[in-house]
Amino acid sequence: MTAGPEAYPNRRIPMNQKRRRNSAKRSSRPPVRFGGVRTPDGYVFELTGGHPCLDLANTVDDRRTSSPRELLASPEDLVDWGRQTGVITTRDSARLVERALRHHAEAERALARVRAVREIIFAVFSAIARGTRPTAGSLSALGREVARALSARELVYRDGGLAWIWPADNSLGLERIVWPVLASAADLLSSDNLPRVRECAGEGCGWLFLDRSKNGTRRWCDMTVCGNRAKMQRYRSRRA
Ligand SMILES: [Zn+2]
Repeated sequence: MTAGPEAYPNRRIPMNQKRRRNSAKRSSRPPVRFGGVRTPDGYVFELTGGHPCLDLANTVDDRRTSSPRELLASPEDLVDWGRQTGVITTRDSARLVERALRHHAEAERALARVRAVREIIFAVFSAIARGTRPTAGSLSALGREVARALSARELVYRDGGLAWIWPADNSLGLERIVWPVLASAADLLSSDNLPRVRECAGEGCGWLFLDRSKNGTRRWCDMTVCGNRAKMQRYRSRRA
């Protein structure tokens, strides 16, 4: 089960990626994890985590292998990810790309910061998914990052009430993409859903997801990728 449209209002999967998924289903070869697809319009991420902070953790492919693949390879990739998860609007994403092109060093620094935050999120949630205690270092680092992100919010009067909003000031640069993600991590950590955080059972995968299945037995980040790969391996070992 993947995240519903309500989780990612701006999410789009182009037809070529859908076709690729379907052909992976029919193929007799085990599908190769692709984690998304590069298109002329940018990178299209595979969002199967069911939660923004888990999808950020999943921007490293084949994470638990000797050759993990970085999916946030450039500031533009980060902007694409932010737009596709709905963390930023399409209009903001265009402005952020413009700014990243003009302020290259600043954009690279922000990308490095986001990757560092991602690794902290992965450290904490993968430990939880495995039923182990996150390290004190990873917890305090996450606490610091969450506090920093939340301090960026603004309290405004809107529609007759008060609301916390994220500043839409694009001069804040790419790092603003990670603030709502950190807030989502804080929400998840204190929610009833925490025991439903899982790590994909696929060998070497390491992707995290929120298991929303009725009986809590989802095992794969994506049935058509890691699920099929495991099915092929079982089939081969039966024939051997
Ligand atoms: Zn997987």
